[in-house]
Amino acid sequence: MVKNRIMEIFFRKELLEYYEPGHPESPQRLEAIISFLEKKGITNFLGFEEVLEPLVAEVHSHKHINTVKNNNFFDPDTPNFPGIYRYAMLASGGAVAAAKTALNKKDAFALIRPPGHHAGKDFLGGFCYFNNIAIAVKYCLKSIKRVAILDLDGHHGNGTESIFRESKQVLFISIHQSHCYPWTGLMSFSNCYNFPVRKGINFSDYKIFLFESIVLINKFTPEVVAISMGFDTHKNDPLLDLQFSDSDYYHMARIIGQGISVPTFFVLEGGYDIKSIGNSFYCFLSGWEKCRR
Ligand SMILES: [Zn+2]
Repeated sequence: MVKNRIMEIFFRKELLEYYEPGHPESPQRLEAIISFLEKKGITNFLGFEEVLEPLVAEVHSHKHINTVKNNNFFDPDTPNFPGIYRYAMLASGGAVAAAKTALNKKDAFALIRPPGHHAGKDFLGGFCYFNNIAIAVKYCLKSIKRVAILDLDGHHGNGTESIFRESKQVLFISIHQSHCYPWTGLMSFSNCYNFPVRKGINFSDYKIFLFESIVLINKFTPEVVAISMGFDTHKNDPLLDLQFSDSDYYHMARIIGQGISVPTFFVLEGGYDIKSIGNSFYCFLSGWEKCRR
């Protein structure tokens, strides 16, 4: 890979500190990506700070913020870790740092956990506490008029959709496996476009929806594009039944990078196969670097 990267990568090792034994949203996911990149000579990761609470309050209710802050919740999928508030604030801070980079006309990827796209104004779930990408998009809308969000995690971005439904400033598009968690995203409406795909779909069938999404995004003329990126579309992912290979992420990145000309930032959502996630991310990054140069 060439030395001067187009894409800035944000990461902080504190995000590896919390875990629940046996839970698929493990620190090993991020560790696998970072160690794969380091083996390829990519070691220059940028740090970031926790997001400020007033910005979180533009997306989530005070009741929800306090629920997380006081560890006052129970959700079977979304563990109640001690100190999770700080980790969630840090992850959102990573998304905001990536958004700031895009506002400065550079592409960026926030390698963060916990993920965020299943968290809504008043709810957590699906391993998500605060909606990282929604908070980052709210930050962007302080200085620009339109942001398009493309959710390429294998699950529907129900939290993000619920936060921005009917917004004139945000276009939301999600491509996801149908009839699985969170059991939403089967219909499109107003500013929200959903492309539910059948289980077992491979990338060559899936990419038709990716091209269609890019047409919609360009029609919307956003100043920045924000992408919820998940690697749970991989064929070995334990939670879903999609059929992407490692190298499909290279082609995915090229299609997006060639189709969208405005600055773009990515926020990590899911992806739970520890063995493939490092190379899948590296393939994605390689495709991006190839086409944005
Ligand atoms: Zn997912």
